[in-house]
Amino acid sequence: MNREVRVRFAPSPTGALHIGGVRTALYNYLFAKKNGGKFLLRIEDTDQTRFVPGAEKYIKDALEWLNISPDESPWNPGDCGPYRQSERKAMYMDYALDLLEKGHAYYAFDTPEELEAMRERLTAARVVSPQYNSITRTQMKNSLTLPADEVAARLASGEPYVIRVKIPRKEEVRLQDKVRGWVMVHSSTLDDKVLMKSDGMPTYHLANIVDDHLMNITHVIRGEEWLPSAPLHVLLYRYFGWEDTMPEFAHLPLLLKPDGNGKLSKRDAEKHGFPLFPLSWQDPVSGQIADGFKEGGYLPDAFLNFLAFLGWNPGDHRELFTLDELVEAFSIERIGKSGTKFDINKAKWYNEQYLRRKSDAELAAYLTEGMEAEGLQIPMEKAEKIAAIMKERATFPADLWKEGQFMVIAPESFDQEIAAKRWNEDSVKVLSVFKDILEELEGELLAPQAKELLNQAAETAEVKLGKIMQAVRLAITGIGAGPDLMEVFEILGKQELIKRITFALNTLEIKG
Ligand code: GLU
Repeated sequence: MNREVRVRFAPSPTGALHIGGVRTALYNYLFAKKNGGKFLLRIEDTDQTRFVPGAEKYIKDALEWLNISPDESPWNPGDCGPYRQSERKAMYMDYALDLLEKGHAYYAFDTPEELEAMRERLTAARVVSPQYNSITRTQMKNSLTLPADEVAARLASGEPYVIRVKIPRKEEVRLQDKVRGWVMVHSSTLDDKVLMKSDGMPTYHLANIVDDHLMNITHVIRGEEWLPSAPLHVLLYRYFGWEDTMPEFAHLPLLLKPDGNGKLSKRDAEKHGFPLFPLSWQDPVSGQIADGFKEGGYLPDAFLNFLAFLGWNPGDHRELFTLDELVEAFSIERIGKSGTKFDINKAKWYNEQYLRRKSDAELAAYLTEGMEAEGLQIPMEKAEKIAAIMKERATFPADLWKEGQFMVIAPESFDQEIAAKRWNEDSVKVLSVFKDILEELEGELLAPQAKELLNQAAETAEVKLGKIMQAVRLAITGIGAGPDLMEVFEILGKQELIKRITFALNTLEIKG
């Protein structure tokens, strides 16, 4: 039977979507599109205590920004709705009862105090990780230990209860993961996880399996942190009798700290000053703002390209891929097993590459955006020229204005360090001659001619041009480095150059 590929991204709305979550969404998207399938989004909000207002909207906005919106979601439902687990609440109990009837689940009435006492008892007996399992359940208050009439009476009286899965004592659970290969776990290491909570809500495990089944999910692609839950999920599929349509699993490698030592954390991001979230996020309770890649000036297609390579590669040396090309090249087989180091410099590199590929008009729009914020305006033609010569030096769109504004605003002061090192009799001589030449010049000044005239000035002043080039740059721009100076001359034009040279000659002093 050939089923339509259906994958899902299943975030819990507990805050901003971490970069690892965005990568999971992207890989799901790529896999779905590559296989002509569907990409679903399901909101897993069964844990009401962790619900954060605004988080769902954030997830939607982040995926929209990256142009990887789901085919089916709470805001774009298909035939398998609702797409929020809280709205599916009524359907889970029947599934839990089904497992109860089949003997794969049981009621448990233990109070929090009794559970705590059990843990203390086991800790005292040097049990390393005390849990409710095939051994300990025999000493607890549940429908396996209590007489049937007492269980019925407790249920009838409305006593709080949970439903737990009954994990077999000795069984090897195997699953084939598309990234990790065969995974084998002995059931004695698993605990009897709660499936239904006392508030009538299912836990993640039950809801996730039931929903994946009802939504006809064929592949579960998710973070490695869910690998330990996978054996339980396999058992649940078996107990429900859904083995035939059990999805295939692919657990994605962890994102590691920049030095490769351990999992990438918020602290690393703060320490190295890079964002961890696609969009900035203000915590509704603390008011704290976390930085976003978008607001940091990362272009969505560059960020997406960067993300795709965090754990996957095409198997050759190509690095630049549009979304369509990623779809074409993507395969789960090329996802690595080991964790991926997070390198913000690579993200910047991608941004530079994408920025350089933009048209001068697009770049000019970024530039004028920065100018307008300062109430300045220049003709579009000039903006395009500035953008064109600045693009090789920019990492972010905002750099175009930040680094290129000297072409619009004349310097009022000069880099003192450069001035002390470079401003001397020779530079004064050459610039004075050059100014005279410009004053005589008829017509516009173009870059190649500017070079010739400057050479001519140096010759007249009997100075080697190479020795005073940085001083010339300083005089015209106020700073010691920047794009090709002759291009800058052309953009500034004759009159502006004369003005700037005059100001520099009047202002800069020769030191020492
Ligand atoms: N709700 C889980 C999460 O927050 C989903 C895990 C899964 O994909 O099964 O990541």
